[in-house]
Amino acid sequence: MKTLDKVVEFHGHICPGLVLGYRVSMLALKELGERAEDEELVAIVENNSCAVDAVQVMTGCTFGKGNLIFRDYGKQVYTFIKRPSGDGLRISIIWEAPPEKEEEKKMWERYMRGDHADEVLKAVHGRKSRKIDAIMHASDEQLFRVTKGKFDLPEEAEIYPSIRCSVCAEKVMEPRARIKDGKIVCIPCQERE
Ligand SMILES: [Zn+2]
Ligand SMILES: [Zn+2]
Repeated sequence: MKTLDKVVEFHGHICPGLVLGYRVSMLALKELGERAEDEELVAIVENNSCAVDAVQVMTGCTFGKGNLIFRDYGKQVYTFIKRPSGDGLRISIIWEAPPEKEEEKKMWERYMRGDHADEVLKAVHGRKSRKIDAIMHASDEQLFRVTKGKFDLPEEAEIYPSIRCSVCAEKVMEPRARIKDGKIVCIPCQERE
């Protein structure tokens, strides 16, 4: 089992979003089993926040393997589906950060205006670590609304042959090639005048 340290190492810093993604992944693995070596587990993520990095490290559903699917809905929803059964889990985050105190609000406003005075940084970091702590110690019920069931499996990632763009001569996977003035071109070359 990967640890939070591994997730932080990959992501570059610790933050509330990352820790939420870590908790989401822990629940998914608990319910659905092993992390994915290949494509036996698929994740559909509905945002591209810090949390998604935790999902990739923890569950093995990665952008590169094609078993991480991004739907740009801006929602904190994560669906995990097992191949080939289609058994899955939809996890929607319901957790709300504890309300900010007046003082914290003021400090945050100063921070956003570019004020990096010691007291401001201390307050901002303090707020962040309290959030992280709260997420780590919350129960699954406090964090998530979970739906279990059968889900439709997205198509498996396909590998396509490469062909060469007639303008820049770089290789491009066939379904992404375009025809311009009767010649095969890549998308950037097609869009360039
Ligand atoms: Zn982050
Ligand atoms: Zn080109």
